[in-house]
Amino acid sequence: MVVKLNLYTAGSCSQIEKMVLRDGQFKSVRFPSMFALIEHPFQGYILFDTGYSSHVLEGLKHFPMSLYAKMTPIEFEEQESAVHQLQARGIAPESIKTIIISHFHIDHIGGLRDFPNATFLFTRSAGKSIQKLTGFRALIAAFMPELLSDDFWQRARFIEDQGIPLDTLDYPGFERGYDLFGDGSIVAVNLPGHATGQIGLFVKTEERTVLLAADACWRSRAFSQLIYPHLLARLFIADNKAFDVTLRKLHRLHLMRPDIKIIPTHCEEAICSLS
Ligand SMILES: [Zn+2]
Repeated sequence: MVVKLNLYTAGSCSQIEKMVLRDGQFKSVRFPSMFALIEHPFQGYILFDTGYSSHVLEGLKHFPMSLYAKMTPIEFEEQESAVHQLQARGIAPESIKTIIISHFHIDHIGGLRDFPNATFLFTRSAGKSIQKLTGFRALIAAFMPELLSDDFWQRARFIEDQGIPLDTLDYPGFERGYDLFGDGSIVAVNLPGHATGQIGLFVKTEERTVLLAADACWRSRAFSQLIYPHLLARLFIADNKAFDVTLRKLHRLHLMRPDIKIIPTHCEEAICSLS
């Protein structure tokens, strides 16, 4: 089974390049926030993350979340929101059946509230890590509780329960995964390190297989040339050891399976190469 995949960006933030690439420069660079629309022949419309939204800007007005905006300056216009861009394509927000959440950082879950009929899929550990976070503890985890609707947990499903566990995968370095719809079209794999319970998706389209790699690294050069983040950036990584192991896995996959396109969420070059 194959699916259709379209990539979009919903807002961006600026960060010092050297933070994400040890050999980068001390200049501010733009990091777009990607989300993906997957069209499955039987499961309908599926989103992978959502990018920023006006809900994020609203939440950032209040202390202590306002500190996040100071650390991570955001550029966002309402017409860039996932819901707006999909509507412009004739896709009603009510028709999004599933949203797969890579991890719960603000720039990935900003638009969840805009899709009233969606079921949310994520790992058990990712859900557990944010379930009770508020105030400063939420800020430190780059999570904003207000981005989850009141019925979020009723509509939430764990990937471990929903997907079919696979003990062998065709992808070098990735031994295990979850076949989300039982047809091999979308396989979720753990990408630990950057945030607790982070996942990526192997997506099979007619043209190629794509790995949506979330924030396992920020730029393609990180996995293609195996460049680790700056020591300062490591302060914001949940598990540095796991981050490095995951980055090496991506590097290996890139070398052994150049036919698979790896797309980190914030890499403009990679996003544009597929858009
Ligand atoms: Zn993140």
